[in-house]
Amino acid sequence: MPAFNIVIPQSRPKRLEFIRELFPMHSGPDLSEDWQGGREEGLKRLALILPAQYGKTRNYLDGDVTHLSPYIRHGCLSLLEVIHHTKSIPASSRDKLLFEFAWRDYWRQVWYFVGDRIHSEMEPPKVKLERKALDSDIIDAKTGLMCMDNFVSELKGTGYLHNHARMWLASYIIYWRGIDWRLAAHWMHDLLLDGDQASNTLSWQWVASTFGSKPYFFNQENLSKYTHNRFCGTCKANCPFKESYETLNTTLFKPTSAPAKVTALARIELQEISQGLEHIVLFHDEMLSANNELYRSPKKKVFIFDPRFQKNWALKRLQFIADCLVQMPEIEVWVGDTREVLGTMQAGKIETQNTPNSELRAILTQWDVTYEDEPAIYSKKTQAKLASKGIVRFSKYWNEVSEEILN
Ligand SMILES: Cc1cc2nc3c(=O)[nH]c(=O)nc-3n(C[C@H](O)[C@H](O)[C@H](O)COP(=O)(O)OP(=O)(O)OC[C@H]3O[C@@H](n4cnc5c(N)ncnc54)[C@H](O)[C@@H]3O)c2cc1C
Repeated sequence: MPAFNIVIPQSRPKRLEFIRELFPMHSGPDLSEDWQGGREEGLKRLALILPAQYGKTRNYLDGDVTHLSPYIRHGCLSLLEVIHHTKSIPASSRDKLLFEFAWRDYWRQVWYFVGDRIHSEMEPPKVKLERKALDSDIIDAKTGLMCMDNFVSELKGTGYLHNHARMWLASYIIYWRGIDWRLAAHWMHDLLLDGDQASNTLSWQWVASTFGSKPYFFNQENLSKYTHNRFCGTCKANCPFKESYETLNTTLFKPTSAPAKVTALARIELQEISQGLEHIVLFHDEMLSANNELYRSPKKKVFIFDPRFQKNWALKRLQFIADCLVQMPEIEVWVGDTREVLGTMQAGKIETQNTPNSELRAILTQWDVTYEDEPAIYSKKTQAKLASKGIVRFSKYWNEVSEEILN
């Protein structure tokens, strides 16, 4: 189908319906009222963060976490401004939250550094990994384990999952079920409102011990504590987590000398495209805010819903993006292949925000592209130091950046 231009309705119910009808191949429930997309909602949430309580309660499912990730992921809020805001709150202990923001940046820097290699195993696994396909009882939330079924239902229903629940679910899938983490990571990514190639893939690798020194696992006592016994209290299943860490360590893990698995990625075919003279500012899905520097440009501004990038994303994620876009009225919104849209617009020169997304970068090589830097959270000197060290463990990265992030 040829590319076409759309106008997203201002009314939210009409907007949700419009996106649902426009993208019938994207499934799942509508985006809920609780998860309005866009900068306005992101700012409201930012104003409510509780850094001191966060440090004490973040591991609990009902803890004072921020729910900011979809807004940071889509650039409604920059990491720089959420760090600045956090530091402006007088709190006895806000370091834990700043530390977690740094985790997001760390994964992103790794992505910038190795590109698509994040989808292959970064290191050989430290324990034997089975490589089974993803089972339907997991996808359908019908394992019989109340905790895991609830996590999957929440993920499918809302697109959000608490960090601890993501860790438990990933560990269960990899070690108790023997599933290939790469398949499971894809599946989770496409359901998340904050789905991010680096944070998602590299967190799965951390659990799977292919980007970390040991496997991550848990037991019932741990899950029960941080959920206030919400699931275990009524679960009728024969609990596979009801053991000591020592016992689980011997039953779950076998030694291995297997090498790191390499994931083959599809090559992008670049066909000849006719160049024009138009100067276009391309807004990709990491820069959806009218506060972005590039939004001030007088040049034509464009966002493209391109099936290449949003292939299997849940419907609600596209609705979240539509919410963001109605707050950016100067943007022309298109549906179709990015190359075709830019060709139709007679693009010659393109400006956009820097991104590690190599697929987008490969497509844009056909034009004269300028990448504007993302708002930096530490100095050029620290950036250069990190670049010269290459990939290091988070602890070494933190040694370099903590001074500037915390003070
Ligand atoms: C298996 C797995 C998959 C994940 N996939 C994603 C993903 O696709 N996208 C994504 O943004 N995060 C991902 N995370 C990281 C983390 O779970 C989410 O960022 C966090 O749960 C989002 O909720 P929040 O905004 O309430 O976080 P909070 O706990 O309030 O943290 C504040 C912010 O810090 C950052 N942050 C916190 N913890 C982490 C972390 N462990 N890694 C990276 N950034 C962090 C996020 O930007 C988050 O919004 C994943 C973690 C795991 C274990």
